[in-house]
Amino acid sequence: MKSFKEVVGFHGHSCPGLALGYRVALAALKETGMERTSEDEELVAIVENNSCAVDAIQVVTGCTLGKGNLICRNYGKQVYTFIKRPSGDSVRISIDFTPPPENREEEEIWRRYREGDRSEEVQKIVNMKKEKKTQAILEAADGELLKITRLMMPLPPFARIYQSLRCEKCGEKMAEPGARLRDGKIVCIPCAERDER
Ligand SMILES: [Zn+2]
Ligand SMILES: [Zn+2]
Repeated sequence: MKSFKEVVGFHGHSCPGLALGYRVALAALKETGMERTSEDEELVAIVENNSCAVDAIQVVTGCTLGKGNLICRNYGKQVYTFIKRPSGDSVRISIDFTPPPENREEEEIWRRYREGDRSEEVQKIVNMKKEKKTQAILEAADGELLKITRLMMPLPPFARIYQSLRCEKCGEKMAEPGARLRDGKIVCIPCAERDER
């Protein structure tokens, strides 16, 4: 099992979002009865945001964008669904966390930070508070942090291998779903969008 430190090593810094993703990933492995997947695509993750948390999901569960068993549907929600192949047994995890209340002084610091104050004084307190929140997330009980629902999900298709086509405008190659037809020419999306502007 990956430690939070290893996850921080991959992500580049420690932050509350990463801690949330770490807790979701641990719960997902526990709920699905899986350690890190040994075979490709045994577990598929559908994530509903593209925040720091997703990096923790990738490191801990082995569901990655590159392997095609991590699907991002960016609804801006802290919701994660894990589907087991081949059974379709799934677990949906949503984050519902109330951070510890802030005092007047802390609220004032946040206000200054939001308004763009990056003075050493503000930065130091903000970092301290982030660290405090990260710790609170790592130490919270599952029930204080996560809403876990079991369900059955249809299996998403395996990662497909697409034919490669050459853009008739820029000459670069693209996978078939990236091809567009413009004025009878096969072009890539950037070239198609350049024409529309
Ligand atoms: Zn982060
Ligand atoms: Zn092109």
